[in-house]
Amino acid sequence: MKNIPELFGSKVFNDKVMQARLPKSTYKAINETVENGKPLELHVANVVANAMKDWATEMGATHFTHWFQPMTGITAEKHDSFISPNGKGQIIMEFSGKELVKGEPDASSFPSGGLRATFEARGYTVWDVSSYAFIKDDTLCIPTAFYSYSGEALDKKTPLLRSMEALDKAATNFLNIIGQSEVSKVTTTVGPEQEYFLIDKEMFLKRPDLIFTGRTLFGARPSKGQEMDDHYFGTLKTRVSDFMKDFDTELWKLGIFSKTKHNEVAPAQHELAPIFSTTNIATDHNQLTMEMAKKVANRHGLTCLLHEKPFAGVNGSGKHNNWSMSTNTGQNLLEPGKNPASNVQFLLFLAAITKAVDEYQDLLRVSVASAANDHRLGAHEAPPAIVSMFIGDELGAIVDSIIAGKTYKQNLDSTMNTELSILPTFKKDTTDRNRTSPFAFTGNKFEFRMLGSAFSISGPNIILNTAVAQVLNEFSDKLRYVKDLETAKLDLIKDTFTKHQRIIFNGNNYSDEWVEEAKKRGLLNLKTTVDALPTFIAPKNIEVFTKNHVFTEAEVHSRYEILLEEYSKIINIEALTTSDIASRIILPAAMAYQQEVLDLMDKKMVVGMNPKTEKIIAEELDTLCFDLYSEITKLDYNIEQAHKIEDSLAHAKFYRDTVLASMNAVRAIADKLELKVGAKFWPLPTYGDLLYSVN
Ligand code: ADP
Ligand code: MG
Repeated sequence: MKNIPELFGSKVFNDKVMQARLPKSTYKAINETVENGKPLELHVANVVANAMKDWATEMGATHFTHWFQPMTGITAEKHDSFISPNGKGQIIMEFSGKELVKGEPDASSFPSGGLRATFEARGYTVWDVSSYAFIKDDTLCIPTAFYSYSGEALDKKTPLLRSMEALDKAATNFLNIIGQSEVSKVTTTVGPEQEYFLIDKEMFLKRPDLIFTGRTLFGARPSKGQEMDDHYFGTLKTRVSDFMKDFDTELWKLGIFSKTKHNEVAPAQHELAPIFSTTNIATDHNQLTMEMAKKVANRHGLTCLLHEKPFAGVNGSGKHNNWSMSTNTGQNLLEPGKNPASNVQFLLFLAAITKAVDEYQDLLRVSVASAANDHRLGAHEAPPAIVSMFIGDELGAIVDSIIAGKTYKQNLDSTMNTELSILPTFKKDTTDRNRTSPFAFTGNKFEFRMLGSAFSISGPNIILNTAVAQVLNEFSDKLRYVKDLETAKLDLIKDTFTKHQRIIFNGNNYSDEWVEEAKKRGLLNLKTTVDALPTFIAPKNIEVFTKNHVFTEAEVHSRYEILLEEYSKIINIEALTTSDIASRIILPAAMAYQQEVLDLMDKKMVVGMNPKTEKIIAEELDTLCFDLYSEITKLDYNIEQAHKIEDSLAHAKFYRDTVLASMNAVRAIADKLELKVGAKFWPLPTYGDLLYSVN
């Protein structure tokens, strides 16, 4: 391997390349745009485009593409080559500023939730100057935002950038008001930890359910699951280790700070964590990470499953969104710090986040809602569907004493027990981290743990940024004109914690007692996507989006429709696949085995033996086959019924309550059959094959 610093970012048109290849004035102009949002002039774009093309073609690139993130959940690209005819039957390689800045892909085949009438197919992609261009598959990829003709966002990047701006403005303004006049910019930072499964590709290709839906729709539990806890942090198997080395190398070339890798709890499950970066970059990089995981796995004869719940009864995969805010002066706003004065500021931010999480718990829940993630949340392997916050014992005690108006007693160690004022110095939390909390304070950042592994981190960060921006604006309004700022700050902290303490929970989030307790506290328990989504368009939520210029009302409605539709579509595909596999693969296999048993029965009878075992087995198989056939018939009927429902919410509800239940009934019988039918007759790789075949 080349030396890593040299390898790192070698496929990225990054700051180093720009400094080396751009005229000084162009380089300065670009930085002005990135840092201060100054509009980019066409003559600057022309120079950058030309330098990009030279660099990219020297690296072997032949095409360029505007790389964007439509509402489909994956990234999109349309490749154009650099070639341009010179009028003499030959070509030159060309790339103009106009092509760099703006593209016009046909938008009619991307989900728009009714925003864009089909006759108005035009959409625009616009260069996101703040995210570096890079080379992938001999193509220069330019990160872009995607708009409709009338200016509405059709993607996941545009609202994210808007939410980052809202938070920047709100936090900067707030810091200026509370006395930090030198702060002029606040950025949100994110480190997303990514979980995934690796299985053998040959096995994958024999499972139509994995191919069409990303998860197994059938499969009896294996004899060995994750009960031995022998996989977590275990030694990496050779094939996995080879994959990971290759994966890291590809990510490093793309300038992605891949840092930590290890085995996860479930067999065949692994995790990758990068070093955190600005939210926008972290989002682009996480999309690329998911894409690369699949690509590199393929090269190693493996398949990477990013689905939230590929195997029933085995832990699913999530994504931990580590989130913080930092200033242009180098402060992490969620660092508790050692000195009491800075603690007031920390406590103000903690209070703001507490209020934001409490008031917008519904939106946080919406941001992690999907048909796939419904299988995980609340299944005692991931946080429940109830949003709450963990702040640890020490911060918890501080918040309690603030609310009670008492002096906080700090327990630094067993020999020292100091009485301190309301503004104590405190160390980072030393208590065991609470792994069950959906939103946990982990020393100098919050870790939002409800995200599914296949999610774009854009959605959850849009909500976090918008909700916190909103509350900081309210805080600014409260403190702007007060006479005694210091007292007002303390009052605001106390008042906020008192009102929103209900969202703080430091106990075991997986327990049934918590579900009861949360109900008493009036916290929402939106168990499924269909329960959660309607809160997206609640008036208070539309207000927070429009006020902070993150979404227009029309955009919120369109996203609501897209999400509902996506939910129904996913279950529809799963239902059709279930019916297909059950009737065309499983039932015939069970019957073939039954045939074999019956043949043996005949043979025994011919020689005068009593076929008692065969009789029992044949009867058992017959009953199961009949039940399977009846359940498939019901499922097919329910799928047909679903197609008749026009209202999108009623449609989604029907899929959740009726179609999903019907699929589960089919599966239950098929899984029983799996344990009865002779192994050589069973046509699908089993859970054991899928989970334990990679060495
Ligand atoms: P865990 O125990 O959950 O694996 P780590 O300490 O390894 O936690 O960190 C997890 C992630 O948090 C990493 O991606 C790391 O870069 C990120 N992280 C650390 N500090 C910050 C911060 N200030 N803002 C955002 N993410 C951060
Ligand atoms: Mg974590």
